[in-house]
Amino acid sequence: MMKNVLVTGGCGFIGSNFIRHMLEKHPNINILNLDKLTYAGNPDNLRDLEDHPCYGFVRGDICDASIVNNVMKNVDTVVHFAAESHVDRSILDGDAFVTTNVLGTHTLLKAALEHKIKRFIHVSTDEVYGSIMQGSFKETDILEPSSPYSASKAGSDLLALAYHNTYKLPVIVTRCTNNYGPYQFPEKLIPLFVTNLMQGKRVPVYGTGKNIRDWLYVLDHCSAIDFILQNGTDGEIYNIGGGEEKTNLEITRMILRLLEKDESMIEYVRDRPGHDFRYSLDISKLKRLGWSPSYRFEDALEATVKWYVDNRWWWEKLKR
Ligand code: NAD
Repeated sequence: MMKNVLVTGGCGFIGSNFIRHMLEKHPNINILNLDKLTYAGNPDNLRDLEDHPCYGFVRGDICDASIVNNVMKNVDTVVHFAAESHVDRSILDGDAFVTTNVLGTHTLLKAALEHKIKRFIHVSTDEVYGSIMQGSFKETDILEPSSPYSASKAGSDLLALAYHNTYKLPVIVTRCTNNYGPYQFPEKLIPLFVTNLMQGKRVPVYGTGKNIRDWLYVLDHCSAIDFILQNGTDGEIYNIGGGEEKTNLEITRMILRLLEKDESMIEYVRDRPGHDFRYSLDISKLKRLGWSPSYRFEDALEATVKWYVDNRWWWEKLKR
């Protein structure tokens, strides 16, 4: 069924890993990547695929209906990653978050309907559920997003599901926990800390560092979306996670150890306003369908740190 796939936001962290994964696993598909190339979109992420016969790139905004309608011609599947994705930036100014995440998603949904798309994966986040002190969120739990970022993602999730309910657009919503791995913009915790330490700078830990996140290696996220593309049911929501809950301080200490640095490199900074204490997802629905993560956290974190150590060329210019 899947032959011509439109990926939005493919020059970002997860989108670029996903395109590489799909072209490796499915030699018979074509991928067209629509990306605006914001500060987070980096053509270097896909430099190795530029001449791949099954890969094409269009620079454009998902809010621009004429571009979106053009790229959707001859497409059967959409995997929608494009978003403004950094919580701290959304707290400083939410405009671009509402525009891209809500209006941009709506533009894509309208075009998908027009072009009779057969499967539309809307890639979302565990942050839409908000914080949970004990237990884990199921797909049926209510949404209580805290930041302008997560609120805009929650809005886009609901729009996507409404297009299934109202028009029977074959939409699936995925909600994933924190990702880590190669090609992540060095403003996010793991690449920021690794690259700061490599530059001899300290690492800023919010508050006391007790906030808890569940972590998933980016290639596991890619394999989960690939699996859902083939096995998921229209109109459903699937949580995706690694079952690897860690405090920010635990992650920081692991990174310090891997880079042979000590705790004097930690700088405790004022907590983020509205900082969610803990995210946790129940992923039993996806496990029952047949998917599980395959990377062990300790191994994948070590491989990730090594990737940033070996690929200074990639991140150094992004930090200037
Ligand atoms: P990212 O910030 O690294 O990449 C976003 C990409 O979208 C960039 O290439 C950017 O140029 C592009 N983009 C932004 N606005 C656009 C627009 N208006 N039109 C076209 N392209 C645009 O993000 P990421 O970390 O790769 O996240 C991808 C998706 O996964 C997002 O929807 C995010 O909400 C979701 N997600 C991320 C994580 C995580 O830990 N990073 C976890 C769960 C879900």
